[in-house]
Amino acid sequence: MIHDDTIVAISTPPGRGGIGIVRLSGPGARSIAEPVLRLRNPLAAGHARFAAVIEAETGDVLDEAVVTFFEAPNSYTSEDVVEIAPHGSPVLLDYLLREAIAHGARLAEPGEFTQRAFLSGRLDLTQAEAVHDLIESTTLHQARIAAQQMRGSLSRRVALIKEKLVALIAALEAGIDFAEDDIDLLPNGQITAQIDTVVTPLQELAETFAYGRIVRDGLTLAIVGRPNAGKSSIFNRLVQRDRAIVTATPGTTRDLVTERVSLEGIPVELVDTAGLRHTNDEAESIGIAKSREAMAEADIVLLVLDATAPLHAEDEATLAEHGGRPLIVAINKCDLSNGSPRKDGLTRAAIATSALTGEGIVDLRAAMVALITKSSPASESALVTNVRQQQAVNEALHALAQARQAVAAEMPHEMVLLDLYESLRALDSLTGATATDDILNLIFSRFCIGK
Ligand code: GDP
Repeated sequence: MIHDDTIVAISTPPGRGGIGIVRLSGPGARSIAEPVLRLRNPLAAGHARFAAVIEAETGDVLDEAVVTFFEAPNSYTSEDVVEIAPHGSPVLLDYLLREAIAHGARLAEPGEFTQRAFLSGRLDLTQAEAVHDLIESTTLHQARIAAQQMRGSLSRRVALIKEKLVALIAALEAGIDFAEDDIDLLPNGQITAQIDTVVTPLQELAETFAYGRIVRDGLTLAIVGRPNAGKSSIFNRLVQRDRAIVTATPGTTRDLVTERVSLEGIPVELVDTAGLRHTNDEAESIGIAKSREAMAEADIVLLVLDATAPLHAEDEATLAEHGGRPLIVAINKCDLSNGSPRKDGLTRAAIATSALTGEGIVDLRAAMVALITKSSPASESALVTNVRQQQAVNEALHALAQARQAVAAEMPHEMVLLDLYESLRALDSLTGATATDDILNLIFSRFCIGK
């Protein structure tokens, strides 16, 4: 797809910085940038050069910028791209933006550069999504996974699966279309076996979502327990060591303290419910309700018990019902109780900790990591990381299950094919590709039926 308009945007984040970048993409990128920067010599592809930023009205030099020209198709969008990089002053960048628009560029829509990269076929949908994930990543591990997907790891996995599906479709189509040409129909047992060779890797892929989702979105761990058990102290211990290089997520409306930490590269939002400490009964019940709420919204619950106090009814309630979430139990203040992780009435395994001395915090962290990475697949080379991808994979699997049923019911192959095409469409929606041409090509190249 070729666009006839040229888009422009400030590609660096809002605010001031050492450098800022105004990016142009489209057929007019060069012819717009050259007069904006009053360049006498044309921009050369693949070269960076200096250019003065001169105010049009006064002729005053405002700054000096580095200008890079990427000639189509060797650019991010596959179109002509010019990047103008002056100092990162919002005023300066805004001025360049307005000048580019005055010379015929159009303000880019959000994500439009990447959209153009997709429309030109340089990136498929999963790769385009990965660009977004890479930018949004808050840990190196997240960045690594996003970068793999950006380089096509998921697309390649899907392509391999699709190849098998297309081969099966081609074989069935050939049987139907050219039956009189002595091409044997595939026996049903073989069709089922071939469907399964598609189902198995697709199912494996679907299973990666449990971990892919966690890698991409992170998870929430609620620290609950009685007032004074040491929740805040444990929270601080965990945060001190593992704080991610991000600020706490805004928008937490309840009176809960949250902090984002990185555990094995997975962003984990720790929620300290200690703020729910109250004295009178009414307020306490509100606190318990809020703590329940925090547990319901969490992916993992950490119950902190006080080693020096007997098991309270409230703790028993949490032990019995923790929102259906995985539960880790810490018996804190073990410095006051000989480090014993046992407690009367407690029937499950617990970790002895002391937020005061730091004892057991390593074990606590290990227990958290074990829970988080429980779903991690043997190979992280291709992960399904978002709901759209997961839905597409599930649709493809559903259609394959139907195809299998159609074969079992000895339906005509035309009916089986309908389901197989449905599955193919779902896989194509995953990568955003189209497929019919592929299938035709494969049929004719394989069977050499050149009538
Ligand atoms: P929260 O109400 O559950 O958040 O409990 P805090 O973290 O505020 O701790 C309550 C009190 O217990 C504070 O005085 C802490 O210093 C103390 N405390 C917390 N953890 C420990 C621990 O492991 N050992 C000892 N000896 N005191 C602790």
